Amino acid sequence: MGRKLLHFGPRNCEVCGSSIRTRLDSGYGFPVLEELQVVGGLKRRKDLCPICHSGSRERLIWLYLNSKHSAFTTLGAALTVAHFAPEKGLSIQLKNLFGQGYTAYDLAPHRYRHMNDVEPQNLEGLTLSDNSVDLLVANHIMEHVYDLPKALSEVRRVLKQGTGLAIMQVPIALKLDEHRDGGQAMDGTRRIALFGQDDHVRLFTQQSYVDALTTAGFSVETFDAFQDNAEAATRWEIDPFETLLLIRDPA
Ligand SMILES: [Zn+2]
Repeated sequence: MGRKLLHFGPRNCEVCGSSIRTRLDSGYGFPVLEELQVVGGLKRRKDLCPICHSGSRERLIWLYLNSKHSAFTTLGAALTVAHFAPEKGLSIQLKNLFGQGYTAYDLAPHRYRHMNDVEPQNLEGLTLSDNSVDLLVANHIMEHVYDLPKALSEVRRVLKQGTGLAIMQVPIALKLDEHRDGGQAMDGTRRIALFGQDDHVRLFTQQSYVDALTTAGFSVETFDAFQDNAEAATRWEIDPFETLLLIRDPA
């Protein structure tokens, strides 16, 4: 409540609904992120909600789920939603929408001081059932996992065939020609220099990420908020360089 009063103002956070005065800057500022124009890693001015800490990425996802994905908003609690590395603002909204069907997971649940219901799961070896998840959200994880094909095959195994949707945003280097990988054996300094963060083991180009997903057997569709509805995308202050990949198992 104190935070809400401190940051109170005339603007609105579309994700948590708080009335806020301004947003906070985001991003890490490592040279490689600026040099290679890494969407999802670059510094962004006035991007983060001071209450729920959601940024452009979460606004993009919430805009899509709210306005485009009517199955999710109408079926609500009947769906099974698995949210990995749960972002706070998005987690609150998804929990409200899906109720009992929603579960938050992380490799290290103790990291979440403000969420006491995060269950342990490792994306490289899930204990969830085959063909059981309607919506799987796992943002900014695939640049961390050591065995990417294994993690993607696990997601495909648990996602409902045909109707399930996976949202797995990653940092995308717009100005990188060749996908960078192999960070598993590197130290933190080298990883920062090559990938932009000390615990990232790869850096995707737009094409290399789509290739990894299709190689794993997924179909990939791109949602561009500005092409879809420029007025809404502008109002929600979506990052014009970030698109949302809609990942499905077509089998
Ligand atoms: Zn918020």
